[in-house]
Amino acid sequence: MSFRKYPFLIGRLTRNIKTFKNGILTTGLTPLENISTPSVCVSCRTLSSSSSSSSESESENDLSAEFYDIVIVGGGLVGTALAAALGSNGRLANKQILLLDSAKNFGTKPPESERDGGDPNFSNRVVALSPGSKALLNRLGVWENVWRSQTVSCLQVWDALSDANITFNYPDYTTPVSHIVENPVLAHAICQTLDLVDKVKVEFGSKVKSCTIPSSENPREKASVVLENDRILKTDLLIGADGFNSKVRSSISSPSIAFNYDRNAVVATLKLCDTPENYIAWQRFLPSGGPIALLPLAPNYSSLVWSTTPNHAKELLDMEPYDFVEAVNSAFWKEYERSELVKKSCELLNALKLNNKGPRVLPPSIIEVVDKSRASFPLGFGHSAYYASRRAVLIGDAAHRVHPLAGQGLNLGLGDIEVLVQVLSETVGIGGDIGAFDTLREYESQRQRHNIAIQSGIDALHRLYSIDFPPIVALRSIGLSVVNSSELMKKFFMSHAAA
Ligand SMILES: Cc1cc2nc3c(=O)[nH]c(=O)nc-3n(C[C@H](O)[C@H](O)[C@H](O)COP(=O)(O)OP(=O)(O)OC[C@H]3O[C@@H](n4cnc5c(N)ncnc54)[C@H](O)[C@@H]3O)c2cc1C
Repeated sequence: MSFRKYPFLIGRLTRNIKTFKNGILTTGLTPLENISTPSVCVSCRTLSSSSSSSSESESENDLSAEFYDIVIVGGGLVGTALAAALGSNGRLANKQILLLDSAKNFGTKPPESERDGGDPNFSNRVVALSPGSKALLNRLGVWENVWRSQTVSCLQVWDALSDANITFNYPDYTTPVSHIVENPVLAHAICQTLDLVDKVKVEFGSKVKSCTIPSSENPREKASVVLENDRILKTDLLIGADGFNSKVRSSISSPSIAFNYDRNAVVATLKLCDTPENYIAWQRFLPSGGPIALLPLAPNYSSLVWSTTPNHAKELLDMEPYDFVEAVNSAFWKEYERSELVKKSCELLNALKLNNKGPRVLPPSIIEVVDKSRASFPLGFGHSAYYASRRAVLIGDAAHRVHPLAGQGLNLGLGDIEVLVQVLSETVGIGGDIGAFDTLREYESQRQRHNIAIQSGIDALHRLYSIDFPPIVALRSIGLSVVNSSELMKKFFMSHAAA
């Protein structure tokens, strides 16, 4: 099993396990999303008791249940994109697919915009999409509906406690590092594509109350879903795209690690001073707080993502606009006091010419915060040990949740889609069962190999840059400068982030 290849995560899981009370496993991580694991059979990942229904009630339910080949729970960016991908796959042409989401509408209304003759009216929620994600959206026909996005040709990251910095760009600056898209623009683009896919039935305003997976490999046994209005659905394949508090994940009783970073992301739309060519993304790691990032939206506009303590996040939201702009400018420009050790290591790096990669471009000044654009979101980590079970599979944030410092959460989810659709399509091609455990485990294995490495790397970066202890600052500065001076290492990181 793929998880065995990552003993550090298993180690982390077991190290933090403290108690097992009332069937709930608690860990030392704070605060924890507890794990309900009532007698799970590890080899086949099914429950031996409560969740699996008896054959008697099973057959009673069968009589009143509607059947779909595939039921997707969760119509966020990942669930809707998956529905579009499954619906447009030729081999899956005879599969009836149902997409459920508790939200009343998603992506159905085009964002009000300058396209309609008004102000730019940018959303404060944006995602940085990797070239790989853009390519997927292109293939699905979604990208042509993304009417507004900004190409990022360069990413500049630096440490507030030293001179260390790193720049990611391709030699000619014409190959994009990423694309910034507002979430509502992307949601609307996906829904426009989905509208053209006949065999996907979309039901917004449908909240899933519970899910049950079969207790045996009997192909006649189906997964079932009960909605809040007590409607019962049966399916060959239940897909959990229902975010980090996933109900589907609970139904497969996967052990999971989840904790909050005790950090909030403050987002806002900012107006910049004289930046007609806005194609650089900026990120500065601040002492004790977290990274602050400026993502280009359009000429003279950028989106802020500032990871900071919950108290500071509240202060930032409550500030007068002028003070907020001051605080953001100060976070990008303030000179912090450096220890002797850090000064010496910076001198050494300069002497070795490891910090000299030409003149450093400086971030733009912020002149205004767009009215009502400030908001704050708690940040957390989540990892499900299993992505697959009999007739059920997890995708997107339901399977993995990461800190946004590397802008990877949605990119990982889109990568899941690519592999899952491929595995299901191959299975149908050879006349296999799309809900069979072996089929779904193939998806799990492929994705965990990629996702766990990225998740662990991001978590490690967050921890490394949360430390102000001078020897650590000196060491990480040397590390960052060494990577920055090596085109080969930078290419390696860029190709992984671009996937
Ligand atoms: C501040 C911030 C910045 C980010 N920046 C980036 C970035 O630059 N790049 C990037 O790749 N990622 C980024 N991310 C991460 C990215 O936003 C998420 O990974 C992604 O949106 C997750 O999508 P999802 O569809 O898996 O989950 P969600 O968006 O959580 O969607 C889950 C859906 O399931 C529905 N649902 C839940 N429970 C039920 C139920 N019981 N019944 C029916 N429906 C249900 C919900 O209504 C919801 O619509 C960022 C995140 C944050 C917080």
